[in-house]
Amino acid sequence: MLEATGLSAWYGEAQALHEVDVRVGEGEVVTLVGRNGAGKTTLVRCLIGLHRQVSGAVSFLDRDVTRMPAHQRARAGMGWVQDDRGIYASLTVEENLLLPPTVSGRAWTLKQVYEAFPELAGRRKAGGTTLSGGEQQMLAIARALRTGACLLLMDEPSEGLAPVVVARIREIIRQIKATGVGILLIEQNVTFAATVADRHYLLSQGRIVETLDNSDFRRREGELL
Ligand code: ATP
Repeated sequence: MLEATGLSAWYGEAQALHEVDVRVGEGEVVTLVGRNGAGKTTLVRCLIGLHRQVSGAVSFLDRDVTRMPAHQRARAGMGWVQDDRGIYASLTVEENLLLPPTVSGRAWTLKQVYEAFPELAGRRKAGGTTLSGGEQQMLAIARALRTGACLLLMDEPSEGLAPVVVARIREIIRQIKATGVGILLIEQNVTFAATVADRHYLLSQGRIVETLDNSDFRRREGELL
């Protein structure tokens, strides 16, 4: 559903990505792993249209979106789950869920959201600021699904969460995958990456240095980063 070919990116004169090729299929979970500064965030920002100093091509659902601005890519079904989670503190859980417009016929109803995320159902009137880190992460994911996004791009969904919450996020990612939604996640936690993903791209200095299926990734988990 998502394919980038020969993607290069710059910050002014400095090149941050070099001829990167990535793809994510329907119902596929793919991670971007790599050290700090490897280019993971830049790559995701290019894919969703937030970084525009680029060359190469991006296609999404068989459409060339290379020149399409971020808001149109979102409307086409790309859901961005940010690392700061983008929750509006002054709004309740339910208001946060209802705020972004629906983008496709795959939009989840509130009922579906609350069935999949019972934690949020119990807190629907709670204010954004009162949520735990795990609840905020769930709200950010749920909000993207409610809009009807068919591809989720996530920035370190396991970061800063207690092991029991990380396990819950893992379960949620598996549930979402089973609905056919594609997921691309930035993940520095290789153990978490190995338990959720089908495939992995290893980035170093703005290049994809390896593409690994999950069995190879597991075998080499200890030596990769
Ligand atoms: P991290 O895990 O630390 O977020 P990353 O793998 O996501 O790292 P990027 O943040 O994409 O890496 O950074 C890739 C390169 O681009 C780095 O060399 C970084 O210094 C550079 N870079 C990132 N953002 C900017 C910016 N706003 N201006 C200039 N250079 C930048």
